Amino acid sequence: MIDHYDDDNIFAKILQGDAPCIKVYEDENSLAFMDIMPQREGHVLVIPREKAVTVYDLSPQSLCAAMQMVQMLGKAVERATGLDGTTIFQQNGKESMQTVPHVHFHILPGSFIGVKGHAAEMADLNDLQAMADRIIAEL
Ligand code: 5GP
Repeated sequence: MIDHYDDDNIFAKILQGDAPCIKVYEDENSLAFMDIMPQREGHVLVIPREKAVTVYDLSPQSLCAAMQMVQMLGKAVERATGLDGTTIFQQNGKESMQTVPHVHFHILPGSFIGVKGHAAEMADLNDLQAMADRIIAEL
């Protein structure tokens, strides 16, 4: 179990502006950006700004704010990808295969059937930006 927050994790760096991301949306509580190793085109991550490793460490306020962003963005992801459905998932702790120790919510267009491996293959950044632009246009 991950029991402490690592300020150097990649999502902390993205939140601090010390690492890049392809942003889709942000507000004072949460940030949404393209998954750099999408399991399907249009795979988006939503992260709370609050420092928390798992969903169990997160305040109810940050959890609600992040889920509201997931709810809003999920429909935009469906419209942008043309898929009539999304899979929302979220992993907590080593045994769940959580790889980045800052809580995050995955918005995956469609289902798990036929997806690429988890965090397996880097996407072309131009393709990611083009998809982000399509999602943003659907907001
Ligand atoms: P987890 O395995 O923790 O549930 O998911 C972490 C996700 O973050 C994976 O889907 C992985 O592709 C994604 N990811 C890992 N490093 C980066 C990064 O530096 N930038 C972005 N945008 N996504 C990342």
